[in-house]
Amino acid sequence: MRLITSPQRRTPGGYSFGVIPTCPDCGGPGVPLMFGLPVREAFDAAADGQLALGGCIVDDEPPNWQCAQQHRWRDADEMAWERQLLTVLVAHGYTERGD
Ligand SMILES: [Zn+2]
Repeated sequence: MRLITSPQRRTPGGYSFGVIPTCPDCGGPGVPLMFGLPVREAFDAAADGQLALGGCIVDDEPPNWQCAQQHRWRDADEMAWERQLLTVLVAHGYTERGD
């Protein structure tokens, strides 16, 4: 088990954990793009630049990643998106509530 204290590095192609897609336009590292009504932790994460809030987009294939330059794109690896989203939210105090 590895503890992750610094989920985002600014150097594309350098150190990375898991799979964080890079922007097809500028090559910058992506942050998860979240739709729907964000939880409070998501606002905090977005303020730190570790998450992007997409609002309520109704689209067949909505983008799910955004870079620092606010390019948006879609990556097919939903698991990587979900894992990174959860990592960022947990880092900002989010706890999964059991059903
Ligand atoms: Zn970009």
